[in-house]
Amino acid sequence: MTKLIKCVLLIIILISAIGSCACSAESTNIRVGLYYNGTAKAEAVLESGGRIDITGGAAPYYYVKAVFENESGGMSVYNSENVLIAGFEKNEPCLFVPEAGYLSLDGKKYRGICEITATDSGLKVINILSVDEYICGVLPNEIYPSWGREALKAAAVTARSFTWAKVRGSNHHGDGFDLCTTTHCQVYRGMSTEVDSTNEAVFATEGEVVKYGGSVVSTVYSSNSGGYTEGSENVWYAAVPYYVSKPDPYTEPNTWTVNYTADEIEQKLKKIGKNIGKVRNITIDETAPSGRAIKLTIHGENGLYSLEKDNIRSFFELKSTLFTVSSSGGVVKSLIAAIIEMENSVDGGGAFKLATLNGGADSFIFNGKGYGHGVGMSQWGCKNMSDLGFGYRDIIAFYFEGTTVTAI
Ligand SMILES: [Zn+2]
Repeated sequence: MTKLIKCVLLIIILISAIGSCACSAESTNIRVGLYYNGTAKAEAVLESGGRIDITGGAAPYYYVKAVFENESGGMSVYNSENVLIAGFEKNEPCLFVPEAGYLSLDGKKYRGICEITATDSGLKVINILSVDEYICGVLPNEIYPSWGREALKAAAVTARSFTWAKVRGSNHHGDGFDLCTTTHCQVYRGMSTEVDSTNEAVFATEGEVVKYGGSVVSTVYSSNSGGYTEGSENVWYAAVPYYVSKPDPYTEPNTWTVNYTADEIEQKLKKIGKNIGKVRNITIDETAPSGRAIKLTIHGENGLYSLEKDNIRSFFELKSTLFTVSSSGGVVKSLIAAIIEMENSVDGGGAFKLATLNGGADSFIFNGKGYGHGVGMSQWGCKNMSDLGFGYRDIIAFYFEGTTVTAI
């Protein structure tokens, strides 16, 4: 078969597949990398409720197995009776198009179609589907499907906006796809985790995104704002007009406490190559109007180490930067140590050392509120607004100031 005929066939198969998708809501598809590079496979089994058309295949099948050929670097495709039905050279993609609207890849169901290519590292599998079909497989991993209808719709619109923004700025394009399936992009598990309530929210808001000044917003969110949303400039770098720091009356703050000993913090610093000796104190040097820490300094016996903004949260593995820090133990321990030292000294008192009293704290207690960076939508606030009767557009307008919800 010539390359031109193959190409035309591919296009016909692709168009007919997209037209038959049950959940298709947008004409533009995205490519999601399921297996690639380190996760590329030696074999991939595809099944479906109906037949599966494959590029260059003589007849459709209910079961097909793609096998990576070590010697040639290409790919062979077999049917359920292990009969070879098609062969592909290295880097020559094969499309697997289901009649039934889904494919089962190694036991996991996916909407849309799959493209499999033999690469240097094995079989690369890409799931091609509409953004709305993709969101159906994302939303249950991002929000509780039992939450109110308007909360789920707000989550569907923000997930769709985030997806479009992510696709446009993706760093996976060099590997032939738009998004991966992990938290690096968004957690996507295909149809296996889909839930009716979240799917309904996707269909009810078909194609809608959040825009600011005509551009799609990369809508960020966190679990709990702690009762005060945060401006992006206080967490990351630049100020963004729709990420505003303001009281959030719809989020009931969760509270948390984390304890660290001075030794544990010293070890944490050593792990990142910073040795400032025994940790004596921690100070919050600058806070945002919300109370979130913007600059924090760890005081060691041999120096200082400062952290800023969200790096504070990641270094101490805290739920948020909305916290206060206090110390304990150091003064009491130092006094006891000083008294023992005095008693043990030759002259019974003359060896009192001030330095012993200045030994610093034993442990540090972080008392905080909120969960996540606090920028953009607070998921618990979104839930509460929905329960209070607000619509999904009201929820989005509150958390993304000055934006509009509109078709992509
Ligand atoms: Zn990714």
